[in-house]
Amino acid sequence: MSTAWQELLGRTGQIAANYLTGGEQGPVANGIAMPELIDALGGPLPQEGSDPLTVVEDLARNAERGLVRTNAGRYFGFVEGGVLPASLAADWLASAWDQNAAYFALSPAASAAEEVCRRWLSELLGLPETVSAGFTTGAQTANVIGLAAARHRVLADAGWDVDADGLFGAPRLSVLVGAERHATIDRALRFLGIGRNNLVEVPADEQGRMRADGLAETLAERRPGPVIVCAQVGNVNTGACDPMRDICELAHRHGAWVHVDGAFGLWAGASPTVRHLVDGVETADSWATDAHKWLNVPYDSGIAFCAHPESHRAAMTLSASYLARTGDRDGADWTPESSRRARAFAIWAALRSLGRSGLADMIDKACAQARRIARVLSADAEIEVLNDVVLNQVLVRVGGDDDRTRRVAAAVQAEGTTWLGTTERNGVAALRISVSDHATSDDHVRLVADAVLRAVHSGH
Ligand SMILES: *Cc1c(COP(=O)(O)O)cnc(C)c1O
Repeated sequence: MSTAWQELLGRTGQIAANYLTGGEQGPVANGIAMPELIDALGGPLPQEGSDPLTVVEDLARNAERGLVRTNAGRYFGFVEGGVLPASLAADWLASAWDQNAAYFALSPAASAAEEVCRRWLSELLGLPETVSAGFTTGAQTANVIGLAAARHRVLADAGWDVDADGLFGAPRLSVLVGAERHATIDRALRFLGIGRNNLVEVPADEQGRMRADGLAETLAERRPGPVIVCAQVGNVNTGACDPMRDICELAHRHGAWVHVDGAFGLWAGASPTVRHLVDGVETADSWATDAHKWLNVPYDSGIAFCAHPESHRAAMTLSASYLARTGDRDGADWTPESSRRARAFAIWAALRSLGRSGLADMIDKACAQARRIARVLSADAEIEVLNDVVLNQVLVRVGGDDDRTRRVAAAVQAEGTTWLGTTERNGVAALRISVSDHATSDDHVRLVADAVLRAVHSGH
């Protein structure tokens, strides 16, 4: 048996290493059509089983053409982190160990890793050291967690027990959201029984930041009752961060809870160079972030933090007669999942391998590379950089024309040396370039700038 494991995992390791070391070769994405992949992976449901090595080799051979090289340094689409080697390897161990992070009794090591990551992360991100933390799939679920804690607390303050009585007959909540919030905020609120017609939009400035004066007016004009404010650090287009100190001060004066969507922007707090962008964020009540974006942990990994552990726990916990509680950290108290992957091992490994200075350097490098891309592209007469490049995001418009901008994106994608996406903001189309991978080198930065310039000057 032991040699079978050696053979299977050794060969799998080889396949993975070959993939990772081949990062400079081939197109970032193949533009392969779904039916072709279905053909490769499909066929009739096998009647008989196959040996594991054959299965893995089959998968690798058939899936590879449909993979997108998001972790080789030359992918600039969405906000996609790469993978830190130690974190990837630790994530493999999490699978090999097959740990269930739901309860201390199921995995003392996973519980301890969560607790250590909670402490390290609160320190690195500049959050209060007493924050609670839930380790989950991503910022989407972390937004659900933070907003569930918020809903619990503001309704409790109004004399309503939402966990017992739900929302039927509850005091009417006001939920104030930035005009340029991420779509996952709307979905999180929808899951929590707060439909889109109940949201009150606070105007944003030209960079997409919530306007503090707009918030003051909205708070003054709102109907009486409990209030939640959803702020953001790291606008998914511009990278801009809401003025957190002012927002928290205003909101707290009105007894409101402030939830912060900081999927990638919260990591600015780990760098002395850009920390000022999130000044005051530590005075909020709950935070959502991703580890699979800027921390470069493999998918999937997100974290919810809360300054009011008792509200966080009340909103998430569950009980059953067979759950032997030890009094030590049970991960299931802090997320909506019951059985759950032990994601904290990969986060722990990322933090351990980077250290405080390595993390700060990784953030700073991405910001500097984003600025360099903006500088090179804006020197071209046909190109306009639309945003203040404060973090890792660059928005680029070509020839002042939506169609041309989209054609350039399509040409860059088709060429395949790199990949970037598009967006629409303030009614105009833009290329959206995000630098979020530690593997992105200065050569890759030249690669993406050159790809855009080539497309712009070859008739697109
Ligand atoms: C990516 C992102 C999210 C959603 O995160 P997932 O990891 O996809 O769940 C939410 N908010 C912002 C600002 C983001 O950038």
